[in-house]
Amino acid sequence: MAKPAPALAATGDVALTTLPGVGPAVAEKLAARGLLTLQDLWLHLPRQYEDRTRITPIRQLQPGVVAQVEGRVEAVERGFRYRPVLRVAIGDDSRATLVLRFFHFRSQQVNQFRVGARVRAYGTPRPGQLGLEIVHPSYRVLGDGEDGELGDALDPVYPAVEGIGPVALRRLVAQALDRLPEGDALELLPDDLLHLRGLPSLREALLTLHRPPREADVAALLAGTHPAQRRLAMEELLAHHLSLRRQRIALQAHAAPALDDDGGRVRALLDALPFALTAAQRRVFDEIRADLAKASPMLRLVQGDVGSGKTVVAAMAALLAIGSGRQAALMAPTELLAEQHLASLRGWLEPLGVRVAWLAGKVAGRARSAVLADAASGAAQLVVGTHALMQEGVVFRDLALAIVDEQHRFGVHQRLALRDKGAADGIVPHQLVMTATPIPRTLAMAAYADLDVSAIDELPPGRTPVQTVVLGAGRRPELIERIRAACAEGRQAYWVCTIIDESDEVVAQAAQTTWEQLTASLPELRVGFVHGRMKAGDKQATMLAFKAGEVDLLVATTVIEVGVDVPNASLMIIENAERLGLSQLHQLRGRVGRGRQASSCVLLYQPPLSQMAKQRLETMRSTSDGFVIAEKDLELRGPGELLGTRQTGLADFRIADLARDADLLPEVHDIGDVLMRDAPDIADRLVDRWIGGAARYAAA
Ligand code: ADP
Ligand code: MG
Repeated sequence: MAKPAPALAATGDVALTTLPGVGPAVAEKLAARGLLTLQDLWLHLPRQYEDRTRITPIRQLQPGVVAQVEGRVEAVERGFRYRPVLRVAIGDDSRATLVLRFFHFRSQQVNQFRVGARVRAYGTPRPGQLGLEIVHPSYRVLGDGEDGELGDALDPVYPAVEGIGPVALRRLVAQALDRLPEGDALELLPDDLLHLRGLPSLREALLTLHRPPREADVAALLAGTHPAQRRLAMEELLAHHLSLRRQRIALQAHAAPALDDDGGRVRALLDALPFALTAAQRRVFDEIRADLAKASPMLRLVQGDVGSGKTVVAAMAALLAIGSGRQAALMAPTELLAEQHLASLRGWLEPLGVRVAWLAGKVAGRARSAVLADAASGAAQLVVGTHALMQEGVVFRDLALAIVDEQHRFGVHQRLALRDKGAADGIVPHQLVMTATPIPRTLAMAAYADLDVSAIDELPPGRTPVQTVVLGAGRRPELIERIRAACAEGRQAYWVCTIIDESDEVVAQAAQTTWEQLTASLPELRVGFVHGRMKAGDKQATMLAFKAGEVDLLVATTVIEVGVDVPNASLMIIENAERLGLSQLHQLRGRVGRGRQASSCVLLYQPPLSQMAKQRLETMRSTSDGFVIAEKDLELRGPGELLGTRQTGLADFRIADLARDADLLPEVHDIGDVLMRDAPDIADRLVDRWIGGAARYAAA
């Protein structure tokens, strides 16, 4: 490997093979854990600390409280009861005795423990047969002349690296730290900022975290709230923020077709709709319209709770593209959802003379060739579909607007793949992404610095809130009666079967059993059944029958999660609700409460409930506000899972934790402004330091 340039060396971008003792084999093990450079080791932070800076008199030991002791061996006993055991009694000046107990040991170890030898041991004492004992302490036998000086820093315990023992790992990190540049050679953040917030320099912060002084606030360190950690979190958040902004600038460097003429179609659509837009829908559409009129690419996220009416807003946006003589595409994550969009959009747009085409995986043979030809010639003005839209071989004449629904189900790369269908000669299409998973404000600020966010924060009038109850599975028989009564009144119901972590096959089987049972218990009802392994055509037929009121009770797996719209369905039962996450429960529940009758949702659970599950169900019971639910979800699960790693890489934060460090974000944004304006080179270096290759990949 070529020698790194000095400037790079100063930033820690130096291969670990330059450390003594790191040959190819060790380097490979480190690399498997993502540790490639000195800097990676600097940022490999301890997950625990051990306090070996003091000695606790044996008499003062407390059960369960970790401590270091020093004493002389008083007795050694080696025996077999059920398995080999070595017991070493040590005593100290406090005239108390502690037993060190080993189950695995070598004879060489036994020989160390001569009576009278001085031993220093570290571990957690527990009550044993002969007073307190420590099982498998870490220990050291001190030589005769050894003074056994105590360190003045806490000992770090690092996240394990497979194939490298803790001692070796600690040594490697220490060697890397010895090569931390002196002074402020490493510092990228402006001085005044650090002073202002009372934060340490990067060098100081790293040294504190790896070698905390004995008086350090260990509780804060373990909670991740120590100023040294805040310092690093701040810099990391800043780097992510800058990276997103750079991506945005790169996007903005492209041109996009200005879409400013709908040829009167939007007006015509509004006149034909059986409802008036809500104020929120109008506002969001105005925002989109203003974006689309510009010759630079829109990248806008529309958030709106289930049922808030995002589809019609997307339809109006599509009309702007179509009126300007170009094409639009709408991609949805499941076939069911895409089909429902197709039905709505055909219903709304075909009367206006718009040609809507359909492309999903199952569209094959001649039908497929026809769609592909129409997309390529421009005859299809709007193409609705699933992932199939992104495939090779799908070509548009001039795609000007790419709409992605339920974007959290897709990755960034998939969104970009659709966008690129319309890219040519420095021109890219506008992008509209829609989600019913409300994203907490803090998260949106961090995750989406690269896009504009609109919220449809109002439901159409006439919706009644859904009453939610939480019941143990034992109450199932009552529910069957309740369904009977509701359906007798002409209402419809969902019964959702959930089995998580199982294959589709198993879920389908379990749901099948439930379906058979319900069919037997409710002979007078028409009971339908949909699951993920059905042929799409059969699934759709059943859904349509339910929508048409020809099915009273629909037994379903979570395939109905997104988008299904049946206003007459006013009762939903979710089995094993404790197994679902908050956002999924919220999405499911959004299927009811779409009509005028009072609706209810019953969350059936299998006791006993975990603490987390209890909190989730309680949250569902007490609120229907998607934003409140999203905040709670963030609190319970953390951002990585909430957004999905695929989406943003937010789970890849090394130090920052959005739920914990959210209060840093406003300042991060301010500093970001200043750096982008006054010191773009520093911004680049920050991104390189924290994100490096990943950012280059995402921007490509
Ligand atoms: P989502 O935001 O969950 O995608 P949809 O777009 O599927 O919601 O809309 C839900 C239902 O509400 C659809 O039947 C749609 O036609 C209807 N809808 C949309 N906007 C309005 C409105 N302003 N007033 C009444 N109904 C509306
Ligand atoms: Mg929708």
